[in-house]
Amino acid sequence: MPSFVRGIFAGALHDSLLFPYPPPLDRRDPAEARLVRRLIDDLRQMRREGLIDSARFDEEETIGEEVIRALARAGFLALSIPKEYGGLGLSVTAYARVFGELSRTDASIAVLVGVHCGLGAKAIVLFGNAEQKARYLPMLARGETLAAYALTEPETGSDAQHVKTVARPSVDGSHWILDGRKLWIGNGHRAGVIATFAQTEVERGGKMVVRPTAFIIRPDMPGFHVERTIRKMGIRGSTQAELVYEHLEVPADHVLGVIGKGFGVAVHVLNGGRLTLAAGCTAGTKEVARQMTEFADQRVQFGRPIADFDITQRKIARVASDIYGADSMLGILTELASSSRDADDWALEAACCKVFASEMIWRSADELVQIAGGRGFVKPYAYERWLRDSRINRIFEGTNEILRLFIALNGIQGPAERLKEIGSAIRQPLRNLGLISGFAASRLRSAFGATPTLDVDLDERLAVHKRYFEKHVAELRSTTERVIQHYRKDIVERQQELERLADMAIELFATGCVLARTQRLIEERGVALTAREVELCDLFVVESGRRFRTSRDAVQSPQDDLRRSVARTVRAAGGYFVSDAILEAAPEPQDVEVVSKRRQD
Ligand SMILES: Cc1cc2nc3c(=O)[nH]c(=O)nc-3n(C[C@H](O)[C@H](O)[C@H](O)COP(=O)(O)OP(=O)(O)OC[C@H]3O[C@@H](n4cnc5c(N)ncnc54)[C@H](O)[C@@H]3O)c2cc1C
Repeated sequence: MPSFVRGIFAGALHDSLLFPYPPPLDRRDPAEARLVRRLIDDLRQMRREGLIDSARFDEEETIGEEVIRALARAGFLALSIPKEYGGLGLSVTAYARVFGELSRTDASIAVLVGVHCGLGAKAIVLFGNAEQKARYLPMLARGETLAAYALTEPETGSDAQHVKTVARPSVDGSHWILDGRKLWIGNGHRAGVIATFAQTEVERGGKMVVRPTAFIIRPDMPGFHVERTIRKMGIRGSTQAELVYEHLEVPADHVLGVIGKGFGVAVHVLNGGRLTLAAGCTAGTKEVARQMTEFADQRVQFGRPIADFDITQRKIARVASDIYGADSMLGILTELASSSRDADDWALEAACCKVFASEMIWRSADELVQIAGGRGFVKPYAYERWLRDSRINRIFEGTNEILRLFIALNGIQGPAERLKEIGSAIRQPLRNLGLISGFAASRLRSAFGATPTLDVDLDERLAVHKRYFEKHVAELRSTTERVIQHYRKDIVERQQELERLADMAIELFATGCVLARTQRLIEERGVALTAREVELCDLFVVESGRRFRTSRDAVQSPQDDLRRSVARTVRAAGGYFVSDAILEAAPEPQDVEVVSKRRQD
């Protein structure tokens, strides 16, 4: 299957990936939709009964065992585990919907369940052999123990390919010996099953090289211990732990997947994680919008509800149209993920959704705090917690900076094909960013069968959007070609340009999804009954087009060099360097020493 996002960098529109917009779950699988409804009802019941108490989780910095037991009984720890192993075996779409509700209910519970179902257990579902699945999945589905996913280390975060933990085979070959340290591992303090990663020696092309391998480990294996848990800004009910492997003995049959192919395991699992995270951020923003509207309607100043003021309305409208955008992207993404066997096919779309939705919830939570004024900042109101809880989404499961590079470098790879030296220059950073094996094939397919136009009949109400959309896709292609021609292989170092290209692609993917969804709604209900959604579409598409043009206009701007120069000076000075405008204070002697020493270094 081609990738829509990869295609648009080459000016190629794969309409069939967006149109017709997929029908909702209720129509596709009523039985599964009923199961999803039952899970959502159970969750709401737990909230009503006070079992789920976000303020308490936040204050106590933990989620009690009784809550985990209740979640397990209701099936929340079995969501992504196949039925044959006692799980609910939810489809991607159903899982995204349930995960959204979890996130809307409590961000910490969502992290606990997300790490268990979407990362730890998922690694075994995707890469475990029959024996490993039979051994571990049933207990995870019953919630007898939690699963974790341990990749990050003190020295390696984004650069996960180069983890420092090592695994050596024992002399008799019966087990592996792992040495290393893992940082901020969700559920790590109480997980009974952990998917982890360590460097192993493997042969490649006649030479011995070091490559990551994935393992299943348990805390009862000799050499494992939990060093400590950590305190955090947000999602404080969830717990992250530092794990130490000191000659950790892992039986040979606990290798997950193929020796030396562990990075593929890590990336593959995270790909699905990004989809889920985007679903969580989108549903979370719906709750933010609800609280924002409720507060703005109730709070009266100058004799009127603050919702009556134009500035407040601008904020509410932005949040609503952004949600419409993110929700529309998710509908397409879950469909792509359900219909494709190869996660490479939708990796860029998942990255686009994760970046868009995580920034949306952060921006929206910030506006919620602002609309609530002083109450936004103080307890016991929930607003400040929403802001704190939202922040992490831009950091974990691939930082948004890394994901933008991932989107742009992938996107330009196709158009760069013609210039040989660029193709190979891009390949190395791509590999490091977690590009997976099927890459070459999907790249070649990216433009095949696509045209530069949206070859679908859209309602005349959407005609103007369609024209702009096609024009912008052509502009992404010409801008991509221009930067490739200009920078040639240096493009990999021009991150400011890559960031802009990624932003342009994200906006176009979002707009395409919004048009597809709105068209479907118009077809089903008619324009008159879709007036509210068409308004959201209008607002989203116009604003998104503006953001697109801002990024486009900034490409090859001289300010990039200026920024580099300013950053160099700031670094050399060890921070801001202009003396105070009000009091011309001489620098402290010790500061001068520090700066001049840094310069010498
Ligand atoms: C609450 C919490 C829960 C977590 N849960 C888990 C878990 O369950 N399992 C797990 O394995 N990990 C987990 N993590 C780790 C998380 O995935 C990492 O924090 C994340 O991948 C980023 O790594 P880092 O923090 O080392 O940042 P770094 O990689 O050091 O990055 C720091 C900054 O530099 C930027 N940067 C890095 N490289 C580049 C580059 N090439 N170009 C431009 N900018 C760059 C980044 O975008 C970021 O802004 C968790 C972290 C937290 C805080």
